[in-house]
Amino acid sequence: MKKILAAVICVAVIICVATLSGRGMYTRTEYMLDTVITITADNKKAVSECFDEIKRIEKLFSVHISDSETSKINSAPHGAPVAVSREVFDLLEKACEYKTKTDGAFDITVKPLVDLWNVSGGGYVPDTEEISEAVSLVGDIILDKDNLTVTLPRKGMQIDLGGIAKGYAGDRVRDVLLQNGVTSAMADLGGNIVTLGKKDGKPWKIGLQSPDKGRGEAFATVEAEDTCVVTSGGYERNFVHNGKTYHHIIDPRTGTNPDNDVLSVTVISPDGALADALSTACFVLGRERGEECAKSLGADIVTYTKNGVFTTDTAKTNIFDNVK
Ligand code: ADP
Ligand code: MG
Repeated sequence: MKKILAAVICVAVIICVATLSGRGMYTRTEYMLDTVITITADNKKAVSECFDEIKRIEKLFSVHISDSETSKINSAPHGAPVAVSREVFDLLEKACEYKTKTDGAFDITVKPLVDLWNVSGGGYVPDTEEISEAVSLVGDIILDKDNLTVTLPRKGMQIDLGGIAKGYAGDRVRDVLLQNGVTSAMADLGGNIVTLGKKDGKPWKIGLQSPDKGRGEAFATVEAEDTCVVTSGGYERNFVHNGKTYHHIIDPRTGTNPDNDVLSVTVISPDGALADALSTACFVLGRERGEECAKSLGADIVTYTKNGVFTTDTAKTNIFDNVK
């Protein structure tokens, strides 16, 4: 079912991007990193190298690949240091920094809660005891910079880079494009958009999906040039139980979906990993704290709430459907 859905999305995305692509632009779509990825650039070889790079990153970070570095960390006995590559170490270090800077709203040790709620496997609504048990496993990982090791200090602790890996992959895609001399490109890694240069002499126009309307219906556009536009929301990966919708973004501090009026958050920053982590974090934090947090990290943010749409960047964001 997931594969059929992915194929339908692929076709839709290809049609959409084919019309978007200018003369001499080449577009390819693949299902990787658990999502549909489309890359458009004026260089076929560069696009192909980008997909090789994403495959490499997936092998490093995916919790679904048993010999990925993430899986090795998760399967080691608690308290045992696990040697990792410099690349993995650096991203873990960044993730820990974002945890501190977002008051713990972004936390890669959220995995026991992700597994408990099991949104991708159909969903389960746990009781308060199960939730507090999983919340007690959220905590600090130990990073040893000299020996490049990672330790999960407590039994049952697990990490999940699902909230940052696509953003990081987008940053690496941009590097590959630049190394190939590409001057105009757009990559869409499942809602994580990376833009390079302009399209037909103008900034790329990125439509922001309306959280409560059909796929492809935008409520705003963002003009983007050499930056990333990353969106998190609860409207795509979710399940319904007793009439209530539960989604895949969890507040690691309470163990439940965040209790605020935010329906989607879009973060705009040249740093894709930061934008990805922040979009997840600000969705958890709510509009006001989310805006403060994004500003303090030099990023712009568009927050779609049940009470209207707000942006910190009125120059580049055009909101044309501000539902209240
Ligand atoms: P998407 O992957 O749909 O683009 P996000 O970037 O917001 O959405 O990441 C959500 C994923 O990150 C979840 O599927 C889960 O694996 C993980 N996650 C959920 N809540 C958090 C959180 N508070 N902090 C860090 N990672 C999270
Ligand atoms: Mg994210």
